[in-house]
Amino acid sequence: MTHKELLTKSALVSELNKLLDEQSVVLSTVLIKNLARINSQFGRDIGDELIEKFGQMLVGLKECEFTAKVSPALYAVISKEATRPRVLLKAVQEAVVHFNKTKQFPFLVEISVGATVAAMGHSRDVESWFDQANLAMVYSGRLSTPQVYHESTALDATIRDIFGRLTAQDSPPERMHWVYQPVNHVSDGRIFAYEALCRWDIPGIGSVSPNVFIPIAEDVGVIDLIDSWGLMSLDKTHEELFEHGGHCVSFNLSAKTLESDLSCAEMIKDMLNRNRDCGCELIIEMTETAVAENRGRLLTQLKELRAHGVRIAIDDFGSGLTSLGAFADLPCDYLKIDGSLLHIEDRHLAKGLLQVAKKLADLLGAKVIVEGVETEAQLRLVKEIGADFAQGWYFGQPIDPAIPSDN
Ligand code: C2E
Ligand code: MG
Ligand code: MG
Repeated sequence: MTHKELLTKSALVSELNKLLDEQSVVLSTVLIKNLARINSQFGRDIGDELIEKFGQMLVGLKECEFTAKVSPALYAVISKEATRPRVLLKAVQEAVVHFNKTKQFPFLVEISVGATVAAMGHSRDVESWFDQANLAMVYSGRLSTPQVYHESTALDATIRDIFGRLTAQDSPPERMHWVYQPVNHVSDGRIFAYEALCRWDIPGIGSVSPNVFIPIAEDVGVIDLIDSWGLMSLDKTHEELFEHGGHCVSFNLSAKTLESDLSCAEMIKDMLNRNRDCGCELIIEMTETAVAENRGRLLTQLKELRAHGVRIAIDDFGSGLTSLGAFADLPCDYLKIDGSLLHIEDRHLAKGLLQVAKKLADLLGAKVIVEGVETEAQLRLVKEIGADFAQGWYFGQPIDPAIPSDN
């Protein structure tokens, strides 16, 4: 069989089995992110053209010995450079950067890519090598950087081990704390609120993104503890925080926390009572996907909290594939538009999509917060669509109240 054609998965598996009799190889899986969104926004013809060209691009890479299309969005690649999996990851990553530079499509292609070393003479089933490559690929998506299997698993195992030993009496794990990023009025830049964001510098490992450890906390069943420590952290920090302006704090709450823990609503009310003297107001952020997947009890909880004066924000709007009908009975005071819409390169398209989101917010009677505002040009766009608030590095990085500010 000639190497340089796009294989089916079964053809690739057969090549892999043959190779593994003689040597170890790198198996990598590559996922085109958001293919469903691309199909729905730009049409299936464009999606099909992308799939065709993307597959050919991988086939053409000299590092890719064999390449297969596993599904329209998922590709598998074998390289013989078993001692250097990162060489293949780098080659794929650079090829995608080049692919985007050619501007063949009116959007940027984003990928997750992971790799594992499939070892010769191992008794493993071929599918388990795929499982390892896929796990590394999932981590790549969460960390926004290509991953090799053994690094991802070591991280996963360490986090699971620490979480497995947590109990309700504990305080947060060592070096876990919360920082607060300002949310600003678009009109004059004044601070309106702060979003609490969890940070964790794991001893011996380093700083790990919440995109990695929050899903593990949900899986292990300790997310309610983490969310409750986050809420409690405000008791100690609000004085320093509100010195910078604003008196409203926004917390990301996992749907699992609100669903599982009956006392969660009580905990939130207690926290508000404790901080009432400083006029603290509270916003709870729920992702659109979480609300779509866990309606029922979650809606009841959100409505109850709202009756107690807590405001509800729907987070990351536009990043999932939630049907608009799901918003019909959703309590929603703020619609937080995901930064990925603002970052679309085609300005005309970005503006159109932001306007659609603003229209939805108007229908729901909600205010709009645009996330990920990094530049003056992006702020101009945010102003043009009439958004109320903006959040992002243009206005400020998260503040750590434990570190005194200069002003
Ligand atoms: P999110 O709620 O959408 O938070 C906004 C994310 O955007 C944060 O990432 C923030 O650091 C990042 N960001 C802020 N400004 C900019 C910008 O101008 N450009 C770009 N590219 N990014 C910007 P972070 O801190 O890594 O948090 C990731 C996600 O983890 C959060 O997304 C939230 O869903 C979750 N998370 C964070 N802290 C907690 C927590 O205490 N509890 C729960 N349940 N989830 C949390
Ligand atoms: Mg948020
Ligand atoms: Mg968000």
